[in-house]
Parts: sequence; C-alpha cells; structure tokens
Amino acid sequence: MTTPNEISFIVSQKGKKMLNINNFIFKLNKTTGTTKYYRCEDSRCTVTARTDLQDTLLNIKGDHCHPPEPEEISGGARNLD
Ligand SMILES: [Zn+2]
Repeated sequence: MTTPNEISFIVSQKGKKMLNINNFIFKLNKTTGTTKYYRCEDSRCTVTARTDLQDTLLNIKGDHCHPPEPEEISGGARNLD
C-alpha cells in the first residue's frame, strides 16, 4: 500500500516549470526518450523523482531532509492550469 502522491506543476518566479510533489518542489534534471528525471530544489536534499513524458509520476527515491514549502508555492509561483 502506498499513499497517493499529490503532484502538480508550477512556474517559478524565474519562469521555470517546476514539479510540486506533496508541497516539495522539484526541478527538472534531465530528460531521456522515455523518462524525465527531477531532483529536489533544495541543494542539500538528495531526493529524486521520475516521470514519464506524459508527466505521470513513476517513482520517488529518498527522504527529504527539510520540511515542505507550501509558502513558496502560494507566494512566489503561480499554478499551471
Ligand atoms: Zn527535498
């Protein structure tokens, strides 16, 4: 049993598309022919995530070393519809 992850996409103040998983922000690290690789925005944190090219979450690996950042999401960035 796994808890469903709540994911959405936001645009940062710098105009970059970011992935929001349970209020943790991920930035795109690299894209291959089938998979997008994201890593946590916090440089101290080692959590990585993978989605397919349709942005379906495939996998999250690791544990965050910091709390989630809902303030940053509602404050600086806007939701992508
Ligand atoms: Zn993290």
